[in-house]
Amino acid sequence: NFEYAPAPESRAIVDIKPSYGLFIDGEFVDGHGHSFKTVNPATEETLAEIAEADDADVDRAVKAARKAFRGWSRMPGKERAKYLFRIARIIQERSRELAVLESIDNGKPIKESRDVDVPIVAAHFFYHAGWADKLEHAGLGANPQPHGVAGQVIPWNFPLLMLAWKIAPALACGNTVVLKPAETTPLTALLFAEICQQADLPPGVVNIVTGAGGTGQALVSHPDVDKVAFTGSTDVGKAIARAIAGTDKKATLELGGKAANILFDDAPIDQAVEGIVSGIFFNQGHVCCAGSRLLLQESVADEVMAKLKRRMGTLRIGDPLDKNTDIGAINSAEQLARIRALAEIGEDEGAERWSPPCELPSSGFWFPPTVFTGVSQAHRIAREEIFGPVLSVLTFRTPAEAVEKANNTPYGLSAGVWTEKGSRILFMADRLKAGVVWANTFNKFDPASPFGGYKESGYGREGGRQGLASYLKAGA
Ligand code: NAD
Repeated sequence: NFEYAPAPESRAIVDIKPSYGLFIDGEFVDGHGHSFKTVNPATEETLAEIAEADDADVDRAVKAARKAFRGWSRMPGKERAKYLFRIARIIQERSRELAVLESIDNGKPIKESRDVDVPIVAAHFFYHAGWADKLEHAGLGANPQPHGVAGQVIPWNFPLLMLAWKIAPALACGNTVVLKPAETTPLTALLFAEICQQADLPPGVVNIVTGAGGTGQALVSHPDVDKVAFTGSTDVGKAIARAIAGTDKKATLELGGKAANILFDDAPIDQAVEGIVSGIFFNQGHVCCAGSRLLLQESVADEVMAKLKRRMGTLRIGDPLDKNTDIGAINSAEQLARIRALAEIGEDEGAERWSPPCELPSSGFWFPPTVFTGVSQAHRIAREEIFGPVLSVLTFRTPAEAVEKANNTPYGLSAGVWTEKGSRILFMADRLKAGVVWANTFNKFDPASPFGGYKESGYGREGGRQGLASYLKAGA
């Protein structure tokens, strides 16, 4: 039932090579291990063959980062800032290429990679470039010091943005980096490696090792990695915490979420419906802070549901490179299977499932925007992270009940509150156990705002002064 506009962001703008090596010590090198394929999730076409770094490759990368650390950490902050500004500007210059490649490898709509991901990536490098010569204001005394080599492991949902959240503060503070992108989305990290070359970044300051969980494990447990920064699932986060327990490695863990988007009866309903839709369907719901639980005040529940369903019926699903697409492809067959399984569990547990009529492309990985009503707190779809375009709706009567339900998950990453009353926003923000609380908006990010979770959503903050502090130790 949709007509697609011809894709204006042509695939021709990106140059995808048949195979890629690892980026170590400023150069692309062959790995010792096997290789794996990265596929376009919208078509299932193989995009490229990617080197799988083994323990010896990870060791090479860590050694290169260690060697570069001496010069990089002693370089005056204003000199490091020049490199970060240069990287930020190149990201802007190559933003169309980065956005198209991100959409091809990840499946996300081009309007999101072009208008959200890539601009925020550039903003992160600009923001942290500004900090590089002002670290004495980071809150760790007059002469704070970098930790050393940072081993960073990131997920597939925001491949470039997560890379920026990790690399920009690490470099600004004088650390050097070995980063492992997710196995289903390595291409933009490898393009970023090219950007490091273009910016003349000293060799070894940034190293990119591709591979799956084993490569990540080798990296975080390498004895010469001083600081571990991980974003991904709570299960892997716990495994990493166990693997580095008893060492003196510093760690930040950004893990899963099951955010409540809470709508009171005095909320601006039309605006809230837009916030609910973008809260859960932005990036196919592959968002750690997605508003995946909608808490509706009973008196407006019917009105909101009617408007929400009407709005969901206008969402366009399909070609990620079509600028009119609202919902792109699910990132992998595994993730699609996981979403399907949880949606079936939702039905089996007695919740009512609804999706607008929509045609899904015949190849690739797709899931329609879906809402479940009649959900109780005991249902698995109210408790577990689905990480897909699936919204679970619960109702409440009083603000206290809303707080109780919102906090009733193992997670504590984000929450949203929709109300005209300022006092109610403060009441809720004070009681919600969430690292971020948005009011009358959702999914807003800024490099100056710290982001991170409570409970099983992890520990540490990224962004802002608090984010810098995790890449520094108090100086002598
Ligand atoms: P994942 O945990 O499966 O994988 C994340 C990364 O860890 C990948 O690069 C993977 O190869 C690597 N990895 C896997 N096993 C490892 C191990 N034993 N040791 C070291 N590295 C290992 O997560 P995913 O499926 O890629 O991403 C989705 C998850 O990420 C969701 O739970 C989501 O909520 C979370 N996430 C959190 C944030 C945040 O800021 N809190 C942001 C984005 C995504």
